Amino acid sequence: MRRYRYRCTICRTTSPVVLHPDDLDAEGDAHRQAVHGGHFPDDELAGEIDRLGRWYAALSPLAVLHARIADGLSDLRDEKTLGHYWWASAGAALLIGGSAALIALVVSAAL
Ligand SMILES: [Zn+2]
Repeated sequence: MRRYRYRCTICRTTSPVVLHPDDLDAEGDAHRQAVHGGHFPDDELAGEIDRLGRWYAALSPLAVLHARIADGLSDLRDEKTLGHYWWASAGAALLIGGSAALIALVVSAAL
């Protein structure tokens, strides 16, 4: 499940979580029209977030990988909540660490 949010940095407000990009556009359009007369606020943010409410675009590639895996594992338990379960976060870290160790092992065996 994908989650999205709109943030206006002028008003310092963030929209509720929406589940579809079309709903995200509607959130941004409604805010701009109601508060800013249709103008686009400088530095506004809109995009996909992880279950912790962080914008994927603002995360490092390794953090994105961890968040995607932890989001997927947490969604297996409950799609409607936010936040990562401790076991999902740990599982994602173990999966990434295990994959890195396996790659290092294969590379060192090949040399
Ligand atoms: Zn605003």
